Amino acid sequence: MPRKCCVPGCNTNYDSSVNNERVSVFTFPSDPDRRRLWQHKIPRKDFIPTKQSVVCAKHFTEDCILRVDSFTRAVDRKIPRLSDSAYPTIFPNCPSYLSEPTPVKRKKPEERLKEVENRDEQSFREWMERDKINGFSDVTNKLQAKINDGWLFKYNSEEYCSLYRIEDIPSSKPSLLVAIRIFKDMHVEVFSLSSSTLVRVADSSLTWLFGKPSPLLLTTWSQFDSLISYFSQNNDVVTKDVDIKERIQVFTDGLQKLCSDTMDNDIDSESEDKQSLRFLVEQLHLLTSPVKRYSSETLLWAFQILATAPTTYSMLRSSLA
Ligand SMILES: [Zn+2]
Repeated sequence: MPRKCCVPGCNTNYDSSVNNERVSVFTFPSDPDRRRLWQHKIPRKDFIPTKQSVVCAKHFTEDCILRVDSFTRAVDRKIPRLSDSAYPTIFPNCPSYLSEPTPVKRKKPEERLKEVENRDEQSFREWMERDKINGFSDVTNKLQAKINDGWLFKYNSEEYCSLYRIEDIPSSKPSLLVAIRIFKDMHVEVFSLSSSTLVRVADSSLTWLFGKPSPLLLTTWSQFDSLISYFSQNNDVVTKDVDIKERIQVFTDGLQKLCSDTMDNDIDSESEDKQSLRFLVEQLHLLTSPVKRYSSETLLWAFQILATAPTTYSMLRSSLA
C-alpha cells in the first residue's frame, strides 16, 4: 500500500480504485535544516511531519527529481530520487496565498525570479530565527504556552525542567505515560511507559528527530513540537522505541520483587515453584548483564548434569554459546 501524500488537497495514493496512476513519494530529509525547510514550505498549519510522512512527486519541479533506473530487483518502473537541494514548491489544490509568492508584473523574468528568491530566502531566515531556542531560560519561560492538553510542565530546578503526559480518565486509574526532561545544557531525556513502569527511551530511536545521535540536543521549537507530537500519539508506537534490554531489566526487577515478596510471606516451604521462579529471574539477569555470573544453585545443577550426562551437558553448553 503506497503511502499517502501529506500535502493538503493532494489525493495521491488516497484511492487507488479511482486513480490508477502511480506517483512516487519522498520521505522528509533527515538533515534538520532541510527538514524544517520542507515543513515550512508545505502549506499546512501546525503540521508536524512524522517518520511516515511523505510528499509526492507532484510538488517538485522536474529538475529536482532524479529518475534513475533501479537494477536491484525485478521492478518494472523507475524509482526516482530527489536532488540534495530539492524542496516542495507546487501546491495546486491549496489557496494561492499559501503557495510561493507570485512575481510582480512588468519586470524582466530573471529579475522577477531573483526577487522572489530573495523574498523567500528572507522569510525563511526570519522563520529560522524565530524557531531557534535561546537557551534554557527561553525554554522555561515559553514552555507552558507551547504545550497542549494532556501535558503538564514542571520547573524542577535551575538544572532541569520536565514535561509529563498524564492520562486520567474515569474508567481507569490515572497514569503517567511519558516524561520528558530538558536539562540546562539542553540535552533531553525521554521516559515512556512500558510494562507499567517508566523506562528510558533509547536516544538512538530519536535520531530521526534530532538529526544527531546521543546526547539529544534541543535547538529549535519545531524540533520541540515534533517531539511533543510524536509522544502524544498512542503508546504502542512509543514503547517500540524503548531499549529492549531496559524492558527486560524492568520485567526482571518486577519478577525479582515478586520472588522476594513470596519468600518473606512464606518462610517454611521451599517449593518447586519458587525454585523455578528463581531460575527464571537468574536467566533473565544473565540476558542483560554484561558479566555472566551464575548462582551456586545453577553451578551445582550444571555440575550434576556434567557428572551424570556429559553429552547432554556439552549439548546444553553449545546451545547457550
Ligand atoms: Zn501530493
